[in-house]
Amino acid sequence: MDNKPAKYECGACGYVYDPEVGDEKNKVAPGTPFEEITGIYMCPICGLGKAVFKKVEE
Ligand SMILES: [Zn+2]
Repeated sequence: MDNKPAKYECGACGYVYDPEVGDEKNKVAPGTPFEEITGIYMCPICGLGKAVFKKVEE
């Protein structure tokens, strides 16, 4: 079984959060699962929050 963290896609603009890469704009370190991002996270493209992100089933 491969249990690496899931990617999450922004429902508004289609940006995909990749946990292996993290998110430099939000100061999220590479290797951080989306579920473990603390505090406010905003989509680096459209600026909406975590609530619009949906898990990408692979
Ligand atoms: Zn977005």
